[in-house]
Amino acid sequence: METKYIFVTGGVVSSLGKGIISASLANLLKTRGYRVTIQKYDPYINIDPGTLNPYEHGECYVTVDGHEADLDLGHYERFTDIRTTRANNVTTGRIYQSVIDKERRGDYLGKTVQIIPHITDEIKRNIMLLGKTGNYDYIITEIGGTVGDIESLPFLEAVRQLRWELGRDSLSIHLTYVPYLAAAKELKTKPTQHSVKELQQLGIQPDILVLRTEHEVPLAMRRKIAQFCNVSPEAVIQSIDRPSIYQVPVMLHEQHLDEIVLLKTGVTPVDQPHMGPWLDFLEKMDSAEKVVNIGLVGKYVELQDAYKSISESLFHAATYNDRKLNLVYIHSEKLTTDNVDATLHDLDGVIIAPGFGQRGIDGKFVALKWCRENDIPTFGICLGMQCMVIEFARNVLGLQAANSTEMNPSTPDNVIDLMEDQKSVSNMGGTMRLGAYDCNLTPGSKAACAYGTTTVSERHRHRFEFNNEYRARFEDAGMKCVGQNPDTHLVEVVEIPGKRWFIGTQYHPEYSSTVLSPNPLFIDFVRAAIAYGEERDTRK
Ligand code: GLN
Repeated sequence: METKYIFVTGGVVSSLGKGIISASLANLLKTRGYRVTIQKYDPYINIDPGTLNPYEHGECYVTVDGHEADLDLGHYERFTDIRTTRANNVTTGRIYQSVIDKERRGDYLGKTVQIIPHITDEIKRNIMLLGKTGNYDYIITEIGGTVGDIESLPFLEAVRQLRWELGRDSLSIHLTYVPYLAAAKELKTKPTQHSVKELQQLGIQPDILVLRTEHEVPLAMRRKIAQFCNVSPEAVIQSIDRPSIYQVPVMLHEQHLDEIVLLKTGVTPVDQPHMGPWLDFLEKMDSAEKVVNIGLVGKYVELQDAYKSISESLFHAATYNDRKLNLVYIHSEKLTTDNVDATLHDLDGVIIAPGFGQRGIDGKFVALKWCRENDIPTFGICLGMQCMVIEFARNVLGLQAANSTEMNPSTPDNVIDLMEDQKSVSNMGGTMRLGAYDCNLTPGSKAACAYGTTTVSERHRHRFEFNNEYRARFEDAGMKCVGQNPDTHLVEVVEIPGKRWFIGTQYHPEYSSTVLSPNPLFIDFVRAAIAYGEERDTRK
């Protein structure tokens, strides 16, 4: 079949969950047997979110091919098991960069280079790229931002043109908000009407409306919206708040969203989606009664999106271990030797978060010393693993001033040091060690047992690494390097075999955990945390 293009826009307010709706629709189409992918267009000037502080747009996600991407790509992967790449996330910055490069090369043959047609053509060319591979039946394109923003205008103009050119092979889904006014005890449809008018003024008639709401939108109200907005009544879908984002595909399917999408793109639905494994996961989620308490020590705890992939991976792992997840965010800047015991002693397991720079680092060392000495299941990720190494160097090897050269370039014991090929790097954007690399695990190590294999591939995002000159001293003292890159011998995983579960990974296993294919290291960590919690409780 011809590739079909589905455009997802949002109106009224931001943060309505376009990413979750797009991922849920992709999930449904995939379980119906269609070949699907999702791409996100972000209207900001940054080339990618790699240089953005997590306070801006939350976590920076990393694709297997080493692209620093919007966190929505994480949702896409977790909901669909699709592996996204650089082509699935494009920003205004990338569009402009490529147009300006062409202009400098003289490709425009002396013409004035303008937003229309040159920027819009470049957007269209990019949107169609994945379709040209012939690998997909449906390509869902999420346009970031909110309709009415100045910066999303060129994207919406490109969508308008594509809809005209593609005809029935394209579809527009618009997500809006239906607020509930508590004082009037009423749901209000006017913002939705205005937002659709705004979209229509830009020449885009939505085919499907998804109404984000905290209360049930009555049928009569949905009909009224349909009438005002030129949308067929069955295509006004409500997206009512659910306890878990993973229930959204089911909620949309119950309102026939997937079927409507097929019919409106000229495809006859022949079967129902095969949602069995997904429903099994939800069933496990609902039936879990006991709780596992995990602490996450990091410096961005005010904004939980900063650790999105970690919290989702823990949620997957808790669910498969028949537990509800109680994730406690612990501010590393506030953790001291005076309060560490009170803060951590009720937890079943502790994660030391990734990060950059000095801020909050001392709290991570305090947490790690306490966890190591009290033998609590502990999982260090990227900077968290580097902190494990530094803490061990200081307090076990007696190298008091050991550090990463990221924190102290003149440390006498640079147990974590800049990678050789990073020393000449001056640009910050896209220059880290990024994307998936192979790792060989030592047979019999806890990490290898967790994965059930000795060769894995996981994604990276860092500049610094374990300094192999210190390796023998660490191993002699009990911290083993049990994972290494087969080509470069960079240390990827450290563990203390004598402890219940004390593992640090230089890579980010959280990027590869999905609902149907949870990451084995997280599963094993949560299993160890549960076992420890039960053991501690019986001792009480
Ligand atoms: N700041 C560290 C480095 O660059 C760790 C990065 C991270 O945690 N993602 O190596």
